[in-house]
Amino acid sequence: MLICSLCGSVFQNVGKTPGVCSDCIRNRWEEARGLVEGVHRESRKRFNLPARKPCSDGGRECKICVRRCVMGEGDVGWCGVRKGSKESFSRDGNKRALVSAYFDPLPTNCVADWVCAGGTGSGYPEFAYEPGPEVGYYNLAVFFEACNLNCLFCQNWSFKVAALKGRWKSVEFLASLPDSRTSCVCFFGGDPSPQLPYAIRVVNQMLAARQSRILRICWETNGMASIPFLKYMLEVSKKTGGCIKVDLKAWDRRIHMALCGVDNDHILRNFAYLASRAKERLEPPLVIASTLLVPGYVDAEEVFNIARFIARFDPDIPYSLLAFAPQFEMKDFRPTSARQAGECFEAAREAGLKRVRIANRHLLW
Ligand code: SF4
Ligand code: SF4
Repeated sequence: MLICSLCGSVFQNVGKTPGVCSDCIRNRWEEARGLVEGVHRESRKRFNLPARKPCSDGGRECKICVRRCVMGEGDVGWCGVRKGSKESFSRDGNKRALVSAYFDPLPTNCVADWVCAGGTGSGYPEFAYEPGPEVGYYNLAVFFEACNLNCLFCQNWSFKVAALKGRWKSVEFLASLPDSRTSCVCFFGGDPSPQLPYAIRVVNQMLAARQSRILRICWETNGMASIPFLKYMLEVSKKTGGCIKVDLKAWDRRIHMALCGVDNDHILRNFAYLASRAKERLEPPLVIASTLLVPGYVDAEEVFNIARFIARFDPDIPYSLLAFAPQFEMKDFRPTSARQAGECFEAAREAGLKRVRIANRHLLW
């Protein structure tokens, strides 16, 4: 139960973090900001992550993602992957990565499984082995153990624990994993963006070794990569039959900052770029969006605004509304209610999107 620290309102089904209700985040941001920033700082401390983005005078700028950390000697980047040193960056994310991987039988519960080649056979025979779900084939799920957001609701937060162990993997290790039954590789996490130079090396090696076999390259991301990397991601997915799935976590930048520790200005700009290119390959869809329905914060108003933004580019972009499971700093919340999911679904349709679905329905109450 949340008792808002600012207005004192009581919210059943909403947990204690970040401590301020969505109305106060929207309308009393100057007062709310310090409170929610403190919550993020505490949460990051547990995982040895820097409290703030480094901005050292005379430091070296990392251009891999839109955070643009400027690291002096010994500074650690916001994502925890890179560290400033005299000549370049140490730790890595280029020739080695904090990453693990596993095989997932298809069809899997991917964000895009309802429209993608692996889940439906869309794009057969060029991009899929079967005209329907690719039973008997596998997705290689590549789980990056770092992220450049700090979502309090993170549904995959085990990567933060794994990252503490610092198990760096070589390019060769990952690139050698696909076999003749692997039809797609999905880079997710955490997020692939802080370690994209490594991911690109891996993808290039995998594609060189696949010969004429289908091997779709897909990404599940928060949309924080810098544009040159985003272009690479889109191009490689386009040519292999894969897709790029972007999680748009909130519309209101203050809600986004409260929940994720960073605003969404660059993310929306990046998504606009991807959406403007979505029609370059229609089947299977190249660009897919999703939003996690966090109780008390990501409501029908948020979803309507996100969906209207997507629809302005292309009303056929598939949009998945994901039911929330209580996790991480929000483990005392109730899951998304069927009522909230229904309202958000209607809002997305009303905003003009044609392909909307509610995923993880088993979590609804
Ligand atoms: S990795 Fe790509 S092709 Fe494979 S199931 Fe997920 S979205 Fe579909
Ligand atoms: S990739 Fe990491 S170090 Fe580089 S700008 Fe992004 S958060 Fe900072």
